[in-house]
Amino acid sequence: MKHLLKCVPCNSYTLKEACAVCSATTVPAIPPRYSPDDKYGDYRRKAKEVNLRMDGLL
Ligand SMILES: [Zn+2]
Repeated sequence: MKHLLKCVPCNSYTLKEACAVCSATTVPAIPPRYSPDDKYGDYRRKAKEVNLRMDGLL
């Protein structure tokens, strides 16, 4: 299922993964408050890995 994507610099909406105007990587428009490039997801995974290491599980 295609999600509506948004170009943040242009503040415009598209279905393509790269903006046709500025070539910026577009981000999912839904949910609107979610992190643009999922960097928090990456951070979350890293933080979890650190916790696992501290617990001696890795
Ligand atoms: Zn753009």
